[in-house]
Amino acid sequence: MPLGEFQLIERYFSAAGAGRSDVMLGVGDDCAVLRPRPGLELAVTVDTLVAGVHFLPDVEPASLGHKALAVNLSDLAAMGAEPAWVTLAITLPQADEAWLTSFAEGFHRLARQHGVQLVGGDTTRGPLSVTVQAMGYVPQDDGLRRSAARPGDGIYVTGGLGSAGLALKALLGDEVPASPSDHERLLRPQPRVTEGLALRGLAHACIDISDGLAADLGHILEQSGVGACIDCKSLPLSESVHHYVEQSGDWMLPLCAGDDYELCFTLQAGRERELAARFEGLDCRLSRIGRIEAEPGLRVLRGGRVESLRAAGYQHF
Ligand code: ADP
Ligand code: MG
Repeated sequence: MPLGEFQLIERYFSAAGAGRSDVMLGVGDDCAVLRPRPGLELAVTVDTLVAGVHFLPDVEPASLGHKALAVNLSDLAAMGAEPAWVTLAITLPQADEAWLTSFAEGFHRLARQHGVQLVGGDTTRGPLSVTVQAMGYVPQDDGLRRSAARPGDGIYVTGGLGSAGLALKALLGDEVPASPSDHERLLRPQPRVTEGLALRGLAHACIDISDGLAADLGHILEQSGVGACIDCKSLPLSESVHHYVEQSGDWMLPLCAGDDYELCFTLQAGRERELAARFEGLDCRLSRIGRIEAEPGLRVLRGGRVESLRAAGYQHF
């Protein structure tokens, strides 16, 4: 007997993630019913992953389940939000139980890690696509915004840049030296939720890097009405990305490749010690990569020269 829609939902998506006390009603009725904690605001985001656009159709389902949730948690992280609830709209070509078991495992493991509960969704048949909506708490006036960068701020990134981009090149058949950890970064990005929380009330502007540093920092610059200069030497690169850039001369990769899901944020000069204190014990590399300037535009310092950079991240249209 093939699996029916409701059995499928019941089996794979009904008892997912943390059982939260602010969920009055989860999967199973016409709507989820939630009881938000008083005095807090909700940050809400949604992202769709489409086969052939956002992932290769033969991707391991567990890593797709992980990534579909991770990219949304990363958006919450960039706002300094504490993740609480998610919904999942999934379109499947068929009800393949092995596929669903693996997908659900990847999704639920990450949900549990972050105390998130899956509270509803939609299940349809068609070309494979996964849409996740995530909701999280932010204290009033304490969230992080793209529009809050000021001239003189230092620019920082968490973790490393270019790993996911290098791994993607390798998957597409390029002879590049992507390491297992670069592949892991592409397939199972770790959303910087704890780091986003640590930046509340401290960082000025913040964004998560999904489309590449140049493009995403570009959004901060535009919305804040400022410019920036980045020192290429200070970009945090894995050994393999560093090696690739040296050998190929493709120094744009760490600036323009997407999918790293690190945070890029700005910090007022003089608050560096506070930042270091908040990141103590977080096991997250932090790099200061440049400075916000009053003059609009994005510039890079490379080989002793400053060049203007046109932000060229991934755009769907
Ligand atoms: P309706 O027809 O009222 O929209 P559905 O038949 O779409 O209800 O869904 C039944 C229940 O299962 C709802 O509570 C819905 O939120 C939940 N649901 C459906 N698909 C999923 C999914 N992929 N993940 C989590 N919950 C789901
Ligand atoms: Mg429905």
